[in-house]
Amino acid sequence: MIANYHTHTPRCNHAVGTEEEYVLAAIQRGMHILGFADHSPCCGFPDGYYSGFRMKPDETPGYASAILDLRERYHSQIQLYPGVEMEYYPAYFRETLSMLRDSGVEYLILGQHFINNEIGEKYNGQPTDDEERLRQYCRQVMDGMNTGLFSYVAHPDVFNFTGDPAVYQKHFRELCREARSCGLPLEINLLGLGENRHYPNPLFWQVAAEEGCNAVLGCDAHKPEALLDVATADRAYAMAKQLGLTVVDTVPLKII
Ligand SMILES: [Zn+2]
Ligand SMILES: [Zn+2]
Repeated sequence: MIANYHTHTPRCNHAVGTEEEYVLAAIQRGMHILGFADHSPCCGFPDGYYSGFRMKPDETPGYASAILDLRERYHSQIQLYPGVEMEYYPAYFRETLSMLRDSGVEYLILGQHFINNEIGEKYNGQPTDDEERLRQYCRQVMDGMNTGLFSYVAHPDVFNFTGDPAVYQKHFRELCREARSCGLPLEINLLGLGENRHYPNPLFWQVAAEEGCNAVLGCDAHKPEALLDVATADRAYAMAKQLGLTVVDTVPLKII
């Protein structure tokens, strides 16, 4: 693994370690590129609604500048990028995007943790056999892809559909085709793999391989040591090889 574009910081309230500790771990691993993609702030939530797993909008300039300072200091050893992992929430997308641009954030990865605009929704990782929600998840991720602003899709298989596998694959085939036509890589999430979560889901990756999608490994690091976990990356490479899935080492970042 020479690049990882999915690194968190304590600003999301559920990660540990300083930015510099992540940078040093990436250098130790021999990475050439480290992208930070902490959980995006979201502008425009109604008063009184608190989305606690993401940084607040006013923390964003400090986040980007911390990474840009490290970029200067470590430029001879590694390339660093300030990005965010962001949901595509239609109600808040434009306003949030404009704030991110003004704050110095350079790229987005699409991590759709909730459908619609989050409020009142259940986390997409909760098991469900509701096909309508699965359809909505896929539709919303495809709409996000079609903004042309996301560099890749993080854990596309986070939606935890427990119904008929044929129904699962039908909807995700549509998503995979769209990713292929948008030229967007799909992330094999190493946090999920290492913790034996419901993702990466082999049913998803079988379809992704059949549709000729590109995969990229993402550490989804919530602690610096996650960047040193070679064994889990090896498991991901083995899975990809078995499925005939192409894994790309680097992703051309879409600078916002
Ligand atoms: Zn997280
Ligand atoms: Zn995520």
